[in-house]
Amino acid sequence: MITSSSKVVVLGHASVGKSSLVLRFCKGQFFEYQEPTVGAAFLTKSIPFGNEEAKMEIWDTAGQERYHSLARMYYRGAYAAVIVYDITNKESFIKAKEWAKELHQQIPEEINIVLVGNKSDLESLRTVSFDEASDYAKSSGYIFLETSAKTGENVDDVFFSLAEKLPKTP
Ligand code: GDP
Repeated sequence: MITSSSKVVVLGHASVGKSSLVLRFCKGQFFEYQEPTVGAAFLTKSIPFGNEEAKMEIWDTAGQERYHSLARMYYRGAYAAVIVYDITNKESFIKAKEWAKELHQQIPEEINIVLVGNKSDLESLRTVSFDEASDYAKSSGYIFLETSAKTGENVDDVFFSLAEKLPKTP
């Protein structure tokens, strides 16, 4: 299966679990201490696509402000963005909304967005309600999921939900 672009970029505040989500999905691994990403890195994964398979290129970006302009370089060629926040960190939710706004301002063409509330295993520490995030996503036209890179909950769904939106070459 040949697709024109299968690049997905993962954006969000530092420490929300971007690297952990990518690693969980692509390699089935999780580490309590995950090395911070410097700049950006990508992993590939074959995903079901109709009766065939497509290769998804998943770009993990660094959340630190000093790498912000680098992230911009990476989301340019992407057909989809996964914007991650941490359900125990309100500030990271505010940042997620800023990322979404920036994408709309910077990218002229339409981009598929999945909003992800990660660390759903830390329910007792939750500060961002499911309904608040879900309402925001719905009104913006984004797919919304809560995940745990630690337990693996919903992680595959994040990327599989984008498989059906893969751009096809004529
Ligand atoms: P990034 O900076 O957004 O890439 O975040 P990392 O993937 O480096 O994760 C930051 C920290 O959060 C690490 O200590 C991870 O082990 C931890 N972490 C990531 N995802 C989860 C999760 O779903 N649940 C819990 N409890 N911890 C997580």
